[in-house]
Amino acid sequence: MTTPFEDTYRQKGLRRKLAELMRERGITDAAVLKAIEQVPRHLFFDKAFLEFAYQDKAFPIAAGQTISQPYTVAFQTQLLQLRKGDRVLEIGTGSGYQTAVLLACGARVWTIERQRALYDITRALLPQMGYSPNFQYGDGYKGWPAFAPFDKILVTCGAPFIPPALTEQLKPGGRLVIPVGEGDTQEMTLITKDESGKLTKELHGLFRFVPMLGEREWKG
Ligand code: SAH
Repeated sequence: MTTPFEDTYRQKGLRRKLAELMRERGITDAAVLKAIEQVPRHLFFDKAFLEFAYQDKAFPIAAGQTISQPYTVAFQTQLLQLRKGDRVLEIGTGSGYQTAVLLACGARVWTIERQRALYDITRALLPQMGYSPNFQYGDGYKGWPAFAPFDKILVTCGAPFIPPALTEQLKPGGRLVIPVGEGDTQEMTLITKDESGKLTKELHGLFRFVPMLGEREWKG
């Protein structure tokens, strides 16, 4: 009998290879590599598509969204420079795979999703797998003021601009990683806030994300 949470030797082996590929592609953070090796990505896939789980590719999930490519997840997580116990705000829960990687790195996570269907699915799934972030169904442009400030903020959809609420909710010394751009590709952008509150921007190459939608687009 197969159970929905089966994790076979073959799947573990495929994950080891995926972590090795991340290393070859330039990921050096040991905690990130370990998280890629640990988090059972196949459990975020529909059974019919299990064979795609350990390829380094994005893949369609519910509600016209995608589970991010493993390399993108590893790259964004590495840019955050997580420390154990960091309070992390994530915008775009989606499948919850990136959320699980943050938790596996020792972060505490507050995650926001604006698609009801995905929010419902992932809020049920992650705790069953032993991952317990704080979930919100809502608009990531607003951040999560009740739990601010955050040590780190991660946006997993392509933003047309940097939402001011997010830089406001970042702690001094904190890091915000956000793909910015409205076209086909987005610039991976790292915003750091120094102790005096001054923001500095660094660009880290082009990536491809589903768009971060605003209230108007989403309420139709
Ligand atoms: N980290 C996710 C990526 C999902 S794709 C994963 O690995 O599965 C990006 C997600 O951002 C989608 O689920 C989309 O619905 C969500 N999203 C888009 N605009 C948003 C907004 N304004 N607030 C919160 N989530 C948003």
